[in-house]
Amino acid sequence: MLILGKQVAADTRAQLALQVKDFEQKYRRKPCLAVIIVGEDPASQTYVRNKIKGCAEVGMASLSYEYGATTPQAEIAAKLKELAADPDVDGILVQLPLPEGFDEKYLLSLIPDSKDVDGFSPTNMGLLAMGRPRTISCTPFGIMKLLESTGTTLKGKRAVVIGRSNTVGKPMAMLLLNADCTVTVCHSKTVGLAEIASQADILVAAIGKPRFVTADMVKDGAIVIDVGINRVDGKLVGDVDFEAVKDKASFITPVPGGVGPMTITMLLANTLQAAIKAEEDR
Ligand code: NAP
Repeated sequence: MLILGKQVAADTRAQLALQVKDFEQKYRRKPCLAVIIVGEDPASQTYVRNKIKGCAEVGMASLSYEYGATTPQAEIAAKLKELAADPDVDGILVQLPLPEGFDEKYLLSLIPDSKDVDGFSPTNMGLLAMGRPRTISCTPFGIMKLLESTGTTLKGKRAVVIGRSNTVGKPMAMLLLNADCTVTVCHSKTVGLAEIASQADILVAAIGKPRFVTADMVKDGAIVIDVGINRVDGKLVGDVDFEAVKDKASFITPVPGGVGPMTITMLLANTLQAAIKAEEDR
């Protein structure tokens, strides 16, 4: 069966819109997300446009700052410090990847933990690792909502995550562990990956290689989550060989229309939570 991320995202955004309305009535302002983009990468520009559009859709305010790839880093740092100190800004996001020559770690460190709506800061990642999550990285957070939408109990399930990036693979593994799954993480140096994957009740593919997961790597009845976004001959394809795997899986996310729509939705949810926390702490 297909997991229709687009539908789950639409339902979640409708709920968020109501919560944003309540927030605005209570605090006389809108939650606000600030986005910084550096350079002209077309994929990044599309992502940023969709994030701004998403804010408007649920009734949130947004600010976007565009910088050329040759902008001095100090100028971007100064803007980040200004946004960090602005009480009307609840979430700050720097669109990644940054063009060559920028110090990503330094610029991201200027975002206070309380406004880190991507959930990338060492504190937010650490809290997740300790089983006390505060702000959760948007893509894995969205995947947990998709798993929830299947009605499956996660406790005791064998989960295999392929990919160990700080933004997807690692936080995904920690969330599944926190949900009482038995988790294995695979990566480019894993020996016997196909065998390990084929034992998974829940298989998450976050690799960035088109149709990497073939039918022989999938257990009958497994839930298969395809995070990959790859462009092949002008078409978007995932990391899973969808046509070959769909009849073996009990549930599977399509690409596009699976994980993707949930990522921005959870960014909006994180921004609203940051705004509520900021008001409660004032
Ligand atoms: P990434 O940082 O490039 O990480 C890829 C991971 O895959 C690495 O851990 C790497 O292992 C592993 N890998 C690469 N080749 C492998 C192989 N042959 N066998 C096993 N593991 C292998 O990528 P990412 O940021 O996690 O993103 C993964 C994919 O998800 C990309 O297609 C990206 O576009 C997509 N994505 C989608 C969304 C969404 O909203 N749908 C959000 C984020 C990312 P090593 O660590 O050993 O190098």
